[in-house]
Amino acid sequence: MSQKVRVRFAPSPTGPLHIGGVRTALFNYLFAKKHGGDFLLRIEDTDQNRYVEGAEEYIVEALNWLNIPYDEGPNKEGNCGPYRQSERKDLYKQYADALIESGNAYYAFDTSEELDARRKDHEAKGKTFIYNWHNRLKLKNSLVFSEEETQQKIANGEEYVIRFKSPEDETLFLHDIIRGGVQVDSNILDDKVLFKSDGMPTYHLANIVDDHLMKITHVIRGEEWLPSMALHILLYRAFGWNAPQFAHLPLILKPTGNGKLSKRDGDKMGFPVFPLEWKTAEGDLFSGYREDGYLPEAVLNMLAFLGWNPGTEQEIFSLDQLIEAFELERVHKAGAKFDPEKTKWFQHQYLQLVDDEKLAEDFKKFLQDKKISTAGINVTRTVSLLKERATFVSDLWDQGSFFFETPQNYDEKAAGKAFKPETPELLRKVVSILNSSALSAGADDFSTENLSEKVKGWITSENIGFGKVMMPLRLALVGEMKGPDVFDILSIVGKEESISRIEKAIDFIG
Ligand code: GLU
Repeated sequence: MSQKVRVRFAPSPTGPLHIGGVRTALFNYLFAKKHGGDFLLRIEDTDQNRYVEGAEEYIVEALNWLNIPYDEGPNKEGNCGPYRQSERKDLYKQYADALIESGNAYYAFDTSEELDARRKDHEAKGKTFIYNWHNRLKLKNSLVFSEEETQQKIANGEEYVIRFKSPEDETLFLHDIIRGGVQVDSNILDDKVLFKSDGMPTYHLANIVDDHLMKITHVIRGEEWLPSMALHILLYRAFGWNAPQFAHLPLILKPTGNGKLSKRDGDKMGFPVFPLEWKTAEGDLFSGYREDGYLPEAVLNMLAFLGWNPGTEQEIFSLDQLIEAFELERVHKAGAKFDPEKTKWFQHQYLQLVDDEKLAEDFKKFLQDKKISTAGINVTRTVSLLKERATFVSDLWDQGSFFFETPQNYDEKAAGKAFKPETPELLRKVVSILNSSALSAGADDFSTENLSEKVKGWITSENIGFGKVMMPLRLALVGEMKGPDVFDILSIVGKEESISRIEKAIDFIG
């Protein structure tokens, strides 16, 4: 590729960015970075009726959270700005005019009532009304009116739109990087509106003009835009511009495989479909991966596999590795089933990769929010013992709350098994070992190894049977039969608190 690769992510700010949109952004980013190119963000906000307050900020925040920053875009001016279409609106009319000039577009004066009536009329006859070569010469447009009539209508302030004049009887051979050759019969195309009566361009016109002016080399976008590809190619041809290459990404399907994953599916099925939480103006709350405790790396890795795979067994990829491995040619055509369990799996893997100090910081924040004191507890050590069983930071609490809080009761079933008439005496002996000089000489002596050696040494020498001591000891410390090694727990909880918990259990049994 001799020309510098330039791609864009071009969302319309009509609400929060769905993970399908995030995947589009990610694939654009990966492709750009793989080829040393630029990744642009362009806000397609020409449809003011659909504009949603806060949506643009949401998009930018989501890209930042996921660490896929754009090189040019709103608030990051490059040479092709502005990057919001609403700020470029004066630019588009001249391009619509140029198409009229070259005979590729025309003025149409049909009112929406008239068009509706036509549509209904066709429907009644079991047909579909398409505004194109079929019937455009029977409608109210500048192909029918004389030049003077047309100019007169415009001068009179009659409302008009500008439509593209799609060709008759032509087979278009299109190429999509993912789908290969796509053939389209031009007779099925309608004469799309390029410019609206409100003086704003439609998506199609603004999109093509901007892709051209912004020197976009590859258009990577969702499959829902595949039907627009023919029109877009025809527009490039009409302007006499080189068209970029196209790649349409597969749909993201519901976990059942039945249909497109929709905005509402997530909360219905119990997983987020948005990167960040979103509150609608009506007060509805949609959950987000960030607020649900996911790591951005895990979400990114999961998204990369929605419709792409590297062709090897490797599943865990850092962003740099993704850039290295990514190829549009390896993106599938078939819809990609969304798998919330797999997302959790990625999250679990990434949590294991977080370094203990960093994870301890996050866990401390979590504990602070819950107003749990960490005084005297080595949180980094607890994290290193618990994380294997955790997917989210909150799981560290579910798995290890006993490090910070004295158990208030004992699991009934376990207590039935572990607390026996002879247990108090055995536990008293454990207390005396914990109190013994060998374990009191210095802080280090309350180490897991030392504790284990002393307690196990006693159990073996007295021939007691491990279960008789270890089960009630665990129950006394944890309240249930779970958690890491008992000696680690003793060591972390510390002498005073350990003894107090054991004495509490002795009282309970008594
Ligand atoms: N504004 C369109 C969207 O919201 C962009 C489609 C395209 O990438 O061409 O998806």
